[in-house]
Amino acid sequence: MVSSISHLSCSKCEKTFSHEKAINLCQCGGPLLVRYDLEKAKQVFTKELLNQKSTHSWNMWRYKALLPVIKEDNIVSLGEGCTPLIKTDNLSRKLSIDLFIKDEGLNPTGTFKARGASAGVSKAKELGIRTIAMPTAGNAGGAWSAYGRKAGIELIVAMPKDATELAKKECFITGASTFLIKGLLSDAGNIIAKGTKKYNWFEVATLKEPYRIEGKKTMGFEIAEQFNWEMPDVIIYPTGGGVGIIGIWKAVKELEALGLLTGKRPRLVSVQAEGCRPIVDAFEQGKNHAEFYENAKTVIGGLRAPKVLGDALVLEAIRESGGTALAISDEEILLGMKELARTEGMFICPEGAAAITATYKLLDSGYIKPKETVCILNTGSGLKYAELVDLELPTLEKDGEINI
Ligand SMILES: *Cc1c(COP(=O)(O)O)cnc(C)c1O
Ligand SMILES: [Zn+2]
Repeated sequence: MVSSISHLSCSKCEKTFSHEKAINLCQCGGPLLVRYDLEKAKQVFTKELLNQKSTHSWNMWRYKALLPVIKEDNIVSLGEGCTPLIKTDNLSRKLSIDLFIKDEGLNPTGTFKARGASAGVSKAKELGIRTIAMPTAGNAGGAWSAYGRKAGIELIVAMPKDATELAKKECFITGASTFLIKGLLSDAGNIIAKGTKKYNWFEVATLKEPYRIEGKKTMGFEIAEQFNWEMPDVIIYPTGGGVGIIGIWKAVKELEALGLLTGKRPRLVSVQAEGCRPIVDAFEQGKNHAEFYENAKTVIGGLRAPKVLGDALVLEAIRESGGTALAISDEEILLGMKELARTEGMFICPEGAAAITATYKLLDSGYIKPKETVCILNTGSGLKYAELVDLELPTLEKDGEINI
């Protein structure tokens, strides 16, 4: 299966660009999207060929025909993708819906950021890029540092000082030049943009390069396959920069174009934190663009993205699919995290927990109907956020005894 990439096109003005040299945004400021020769892809991207494990590695590069890397040697993989779809038993029964969790916490570096990093770093390698720079809330930095190291590409990472300890350590241990910023993700973004002008790095901030979306869209391919080519009624996605939700919608459209998805489309729901809700506000106000969210405040790192460069694409995905957007408070998110661990035994990340809490709210409001099939993206492992769990444990003397 070889890549059927054909060109890049601007998501705003439709101008087209070659995929053969490194590029960031269109002159008009619009993010670029990768386009494929779908007639060519049709020959190889078939249900039968996807199931022949022997012909592919068992990772997201199984979908190579609809991924941007041309030469096999340039693929940088740490085993990303092919994550499990887990049916919740206790919760599904309680809520009278079929609730599934796609568990992205099993990816290398513990989050779905591995998919974007694998695609982005592989294409950077193919294009001969030597140094990559990025602002990150934490998890993207950890993932790109790991894949960059494997590819022999230098990484410059800037993250808010209050990012999780684990994310800092991931960047540090893989040898990325890591800087902590006394400010928000958007401040880290400005510092990286300044450095990029000075040093001519290749900047890969969210949506400033075209390939990260391609990795993340493989979540959509996997959901389609795991639901046996019939999409669930609702997909709920915790939204920061919005790459995941844009990617899943792109996947749905590509699979439809190949004739692999013919049934109903899933409604895409975007969940944000109450303290940083640019997309939710824009959606509620009927706007096509999201404003910069002043004074963003949430302890959930992956959701603390006040500036959404792909705002128009995120809002389009929500509206076109008949989806919706809602915000959840930090307290409710952390409660959701604990509840899920205690009903299903899954220690998910708070971003994923926001999607769980959103499910309760959407059932209450009638947006999700009884018996519908709902798929939640758990975007990362709770183990990366262990510091958010407050412990209350009894301590016994050496010769003590247990009384329950
Ligand atoms: C980055 C991140 C998000 C937000 O993802 P986007 O695709 O940028 O919206 C959600 N959850 C986790 C764990 C993340 O690291
Ligand atoms: Zn343009």
